[in-house]
Amino acid sequence: MSTTEAESYTVAANWDLSGLPTPTLPDAADVVIIGGGIVGVSTAWFLAKQNINVVLCEKGRVACEQSGRNWGWVRQQGRDPRELPLMIESRRVWETLENDIQQDVGFRECGCLFMARTERDEERLASWLPVAREYGLDTKIISGAALENTLGSNSQQWRSALYTGSDCRAEPHKAAPAIATAAERAGARILTNCAVRGIDTSAGVTSGVVTEHGRIAAPIVLCAAGAWTSMFCRSLGIRVPQLKVRGTVVRTGAAPKVLDGCVFDDLVGIRRRQDGGYTVAHGSILDHSITPTTLRYARKFLPALRQELNVLRLSIGADFVEELRMPTRWDLEKPAPFEKKRLLNPAPNAKVLDGIRKNLATAFPALKDVPIVESWAGMVETSPDVLPIIGGHADLPGFFVASGFSGHGFGIGPGAGKVIADMLTGANTGYDLAPFRLQRFFDGSPIEPMKSV
Ligand SMILES: Cc1cc2nc3c(=O)[nH]c(=O)nc-3n(C[C@H](O)[C@H](O)[C@H](O)COP(=O)(O)OP(=O)(O)OC[C@H]3O[C@@H](n4cnc5c(N)ncnc54)[C@H](O)[C@@H]3O)c2cc1C
Repeated sequence: MSTTEAESYTVAANWDLSGLPTPTLPDAADVVIIGGGIVGVSTAWFLAKQNINVVLCEKGRVACEQSGRNWGWVRQQGRDPRELPLMIESRRVWETLENDIQQDVGFRECGCLFMARTERDEERLASWLPVAREYGLDTKIISGAALENTLGSNSQQWRSALYTGSDCRAEPHKAAPAIATAAERAGARILTNCAVRGIDTSAGVTSGVVTEHGRIAAPIVLCAAGAWTSMFCRSLGIRVPQLKVRGTVVRTGAAPKVLDGCVFDDLVGIRRRQDGGYTVAHGSILDHSITPTTLRYARKFLPALRQELNVLRLSIGADFVEELRMPTRWDLEKPAPFEKKRLLNPAPNAKVLDGIRKNLATAFPALKDVPIVESWAGMVETSPDVLPIIGGHADLPGFFVASGFSGHGFGIGPGAGKVIADMLTGANTGYDLAPFRLQRFFDGSPIEPMKSV
């Protein structure tokens, strides 16, 4: 991509919903997927490749929410051991993805660095090394000349870094749409502008979906609805504890190469993009606006909230009232909340934008004058233990959930899609999905949030 192309491109094109055609619905499918994020489209792709008749319904455009707004890190480093095997599988899927789908998604092995300023930081980061060793990863602590060489620029302000050379990056605005196109080529139907209002059942068993454009009969329905999952499932009488956290992100124009991979520090999370610019976020601020859901699930989230208190900025206001006014059940023949508010498109936090600008100049002085060409925000959805929720529900046979990817579902998405496709067809997934079952939050199991390093 040339500099001019990089500067004329907008990430926000992902969530421009104007001009989307009205889809034509098939009468029936083997599987219907709700949600066209990276998890939904990857699952559709893996199902279609097995000649399963799969239809995906997306209320907006593919990747219009989290999957098109994220940082683009495909990282194994720092993950909880419970999800690391799935992430390693996903990295394998990423490795051959461009070749398999014959499209560019900006994938590249670039390495991931978590920076340490103090001895205490270094000890905290080094505590992840035994996990890396157990799973055969190439993770190490680097310092001095090795750090300087790996980073590719002056590293004097840091004592050392936790480094995984096999970690990668990809372009969020390209990846999920490209996988959706591949799924279509393999036979899947991808219906955009198609909100699912609810589920049809027959004798207590899933029998299809009701969309804003009509019904599709299907014995298996997967809810991969990202931040809307809790609300959708609540309308079916299924509880899914899930909170939303707003992350603010900026994109710079093409800029000097001070790093090539993904770098995280208390000041900034920064990734070099394929177009020669950087995607940058604040290293230590996330916003959570308290809503009735926060109160409903407060006890389940308490351990995670305690752990993240230093980075979370809590507030209460308009979102509380808006959620209070949202119905919890609705008539499936009339517009549902997913049509009334078709897109979660939060405004970037202005104070965080200021912070990003200042922190970028401190962490990477060579980037202090680089133009910020775009900013946006995304709603991360998180589960109480910050791990995905994958599985069915005993009360509604045929209905499955794949959600709660908790701020790190882009990297794991393609691998999750592969495993979820096998789960839906009843094949051996080769993975233990027990840590991801929804019931873990209700069957008395201790809620142990992922420990961030
Ligand atoms: C700012 C930010 C930075 C992040 N950085 C990273 C990163 O660097 N690396 C990483 O691995 N992860 C990252 N993540 C997390 C990652 O983006 C998500 O975990 C992942 O994209 C989740 O994918 P998904 O398919 O589950 O959900 P989504 O991408 O949210 O997709 C869900 C889709 O469902 C649709 N939908 C909802 N309800 C309905 C309905 N009723 N009918 C039809 N459609 C419906 C929505 O419109 C949406 O498109 C980040 C997230 C954010 C917001």
